[in-house]
Amino acid sequence: MAEFSLDLSEEQRDLRDWVHGFAAEVVRPAAAEWDAREEAPWPVIESAAKVGLYGFEFLANAWADPTGLSLPIACEELFWGDAGIGLAIMGTSLAVAAIYGSGTPDQLVEWVPQCFGTVDSPAVAAFCSTEPEAGSDVGAMRTRAVYDAAADEWVLSGQKAYATNGGIAGVHVVTASVDPALGARGQAAFVVPPWTAGLSSSRKLLKLGLRASHTADVFLDDVRVPGSCLLGGRDALEARLSRARSGQRSQSSSAAMRTFEITRPTVGAQALGVARAAYEYALDYAKTRVQFGRPIVENQAVAFALADMRTDIDAARLLVWRAAWMGRNNRPFAAGEGSMSKLRAGEVAVSVTEKALQILGGAGYVRDHPVERWYRDAKIYTIFEGTSEIQRLVVSRAISGHQIR
Ligand SMILES: Cc1cc2nc3c(=O)[nH]c(=O)nc-3n(C[C@H](O)[C@H](O)[C@H](O)COP(=O)(O)OP(=O)(O)OC[C@H]3O[C@@H](n4cnc5c(N)ncnc54)[C@H](O)[C@@H]3O)c2cc1C
Repeated sequence: MAEFSLDLSEEQRDLRDWVHGFAAEVVRPAAAEWDAREEAPWPVIESAAKVGLYGFEFLANAWADPTGLSLPIACEELFWGDAGIGLAIMGTSLAVAAIYGSGTPDQLVEWVPQCFGTVDSPAVAAFCSTEPEAGSDVGAMRTRAVYDAAADEWVLSGQKAYATNGGIAGVHVVTASVDPALGARGQAAFVVPPWTAGLSSSRKLLKLGLRASHTADVFLDDVRVPGSCLLGGRDALEARLSRARSGQRSQSSSAAMRTFEITRPTVGAQALGVARAAYEYALDYAKTRVQFGRPIVENQAVAFALADMRTDIDAARLLVWRAAWMGRNNRPFAAGEGSMSKLRAGEVAVSVTEKALQILGGAGYVRDHPVERWYRDAKIYTIFEGTSEIQRLVVSRAISGHQIR
């Protein structure tokens, strides 16, 4: 057993510096333009694919790190560059996580590379779980999947909401109810291959922040996919459904929940990147902005705010790294540690960007400085991948053993 250490390895430091370089040289300079255009930044995604930051191999290498820290380290740096562009690059990994969480090894090999496309022609993928009537309440999902045995096809019908990359993706991973009477335990995840008839997206959603990331409603109108597109396969599904029907306790959570358990520390790391960007900017500003004949940082009110910002960021990072390590090393989240990490990092991103804006005064409110964008971007982290309230529900249930409502 290695002795305890928080020193990053040489590979991890190299990864951090490499992603930081890309974030500083390519992502951050492009951020204001794509925020204003409110479009997917394809040229930046293509650059990320060319340097090897966007693609199956990048994720596989990061996942191979036995400490679990490579992915959060990379995400923090990328999202330090810009959260909207960061999500345009990392949004695909949510669909990949769904395939990884529910799929068979053969399905992983078949679909994950297709999620990314090729270096010369990159694609993005979408994970579509949320519905107009089923947000936090995943069990209320109405999208139905019905098996057509004669054709060995699944037929998907319903509507998905707020899907990152929805409609512009090649591969869509869609969750649907196979047996509505079983609630969340009657759900499964399906790959909808590129260009499948019946999947459409009519409306791109306009957002407060993360504007370079495409978000849209997705409609499924009798979408037919081959039987092999059921993630995990039919035998595993039937076994799970029959356990649920006989009232046995489930060892595994729903397809949507399995995906979120894998991704929450990574999403926490994204929030940290936004928070750190705002903190660093505010610190520099406070050291150079002079009022009353001295830099504003020499006022305790300002300096203590910066001290709190830095303390909160560092504390949240420790929670993120712990959860990432636990997830990678198959330690159960007995106290909801994955949720804790996303909860704290998300709330820190909101409070730190707000404090940074305050430290800049009027300069924080106008678009001459990036802080107003970071303030808008940060808010998503208390909402998606489970709201802060839902994270508190997970933690409080885990620590109490009670069905807190
Ligand atoms: C930019 C963006 C990108 C997204 N990307 C994706 C994606 O790629 N794929 C996907 O599937 N989804 C995606 N989502 C959806 C996101 O995960 C949901 O918005 C989120 O889960 C909350 O669901 P809701 O919006 O329906 O809110 P609701 O569930 O309606 O919640 C509204 C409020 O009620 C509170 N609340 C609800 N239930 C409880 C409870 N039991 N106890 C206490 N409080 C409660 C919530 O915390 C929240 O404050 C995205 C959303 C956005 C905005």
